[in-house]
Amino acid sequence: MITLERAPALFIHGAWTAAGGGTEAVINPATEQVIGHAAIAGPADVEAAVASARHAFDKGPWPRMNAEERASILSAMLEIFERRGDEIRALITAEAGSVQPMTRTMQFATGIDHARYYIELARRPAITPLPVELVDTPDGRRMLGAGVKVREPVGVCLAITPFNVPFMLNVTKCFAALATGNAVILKPSPLTPFEAFVVAEAAEEAGLPPGILNVVNGGIETGEALTRDPRIDLVTFTGSDRVGAAIQAQAAPTLKRCVLELGGKSALIVRADGDLKAAATSALASLTLHAGQACAAFTRLLVHESVRAEFVSMLTAMFRAVPIGDPADPKSRMGPLIRGAQRDRVESMVDRAVRDGVKLVTGGRRPTGLSRGFYYEPTLFDGVDNQSPIAREEIFGPVGVVIGFESDEQAIDIANDSDFGLSGGIYSADVGRAFEMALQLRTGKVQLNGGSGKMSSHQPFGGIKRSGYGRELGEEGLQEFTYVKSIAFHGG
Ligand code: NAD
Repeated sequence: MITLERAPALFIHGAWTAAGGGTEAVINPATEQVIGHAAIAGPADVEAAVASARHAFDKGPWPRMNAEERASILSAMLEIFERRGDEIRALITAEAGSVQPMTRTMQFATGIDHARYYIELARRPAITPLPVELVDTPDGRRMLGAGVKVREPVGVCLAITPFNVPFMLNVTKCFAALATGNAVILKPSPLTPFEAFVVAEAAEEAGLPPGILNVVNGGIETGEALTRDPRIDLVTFTGSDRVGAAIQAQAAPTLKRCVLELGGKSALIVRADGDLKAAATSALASLTLHAGQACAAFTRLLVHESVRAEFVSMLTAMFRAVPIGDPADPKSRMGPLIRGAQRDRVESMVDRAVRDGVKLVTGGRRPTGLSRGFYYEPTLFDGVDNQSPIAREEIFGPVGVVIGFESDEQAIDIANDSDFGLSGGIYSADVGRAFEMALQLRTGKVQLNGGSGKMSSHQPFGGIKRSGYGRELGEEGLQEFTYVKSIAFHGG
């Protein structure tokens, strides 16, 4: 794979350069084998990347091109991704450990969809005329005043991404920023850095001007140096609430604009009249998706007391039947957690809940017969108190808690009684009632009876509370990367 051969270097100012921080081994979470070595940026690399992006934005052609010209280069990048699709999907599987259905859709195809959507959206005119106004001036004259508003790129954007959906998130962030004329520095997670280098390779081949995309891999130190640098105008971050808070603090002295897409503890509300099988299937899909390493997963299952026992027994049977195994095997439906440390963390949170007397229904251990790889069984707790740590903290593993409720009002109160506010869902035969309940949920997204079935590029995505602020996707997602300038004409 070309990417693995090149990744011992960073991509700065349109060239592959040796990294000051050396290289770090990247391992396949299913096999625990090293799949390649990725360059780690040192301070001089950070300096070079920022200087390059700043110069490319301030003096280079990219922000001065029209949307059509930018769109043709970005479309060429998309064609490269599609041409290299098999290779990229294999890399995602090896690096992130996602099973084939997820690798094909959310990891790869969704990224392509979002990128294409942003290119189209950015083609809309950047200049909007404002009404002509007749103005009474202080010296008693009358004049015609008019103006336009112009959508302008923010400048140098820093994109920091997490380990779980590396291709989709890198591509989504880069294309939103690039389509609107910004320069980008992309810092991927050092656990899954190769997808970022794929984006760099496509940029190089498609002829993106040097400095408009720089890829610097690294960990906390690299991220901290970049977020503190005064030459960067915006940080778009996806990751944990803890790191989101650190980034906001790091970016505060230089008053950078931040877009923070953080974690969640989303509630799925199952009303007594809801389709129980569909709701359980949705909970299964959500909690086993990427072994629970999904920000919007329905980790709190709020089920009406009259159907709770039936729901729990249905979901338990589904959990026990999930084919867990090598993500490269098309038959596998759940793969491993990203690293041993993440599995240890999940294990310790589950063990603490068991010690606290929370009722474990299924899972809570490593699957037998898989001696390599960071696997963990889908795990379900029942009769859980919404105040207990297992119901409040983001676990980022395949762990769900069932919480009973008696009335819609109680369900809404429990759903909203969370530090997070990313997503949510409702199952009910009464769609009108479900819609009314959706309006009362304090989250960035609600899916009714399974939602639209896909992660639509048109639907703004993001959270409130500890799930962050700002939006990705939709018109709002594009606006995050622009600022509005008003230009007024003096009519005499
Ligand atoms: P993380 O917060 O540990 O790391 C994310 C990124 O931040 C990595 O690239 C990391 O190197 C970098 N980083 C760490 N410390 C930093 C610092 N001080 N300054 C700058 N950068 C720093 O997250 P993770 O473990 O990679 O991913 C899992 C988290 O991501 C979960 O909380 C999940 O909910 C969240 N997530 C959210 C969304 C969303 O859209 N809301 C999507 C996917 C994942």
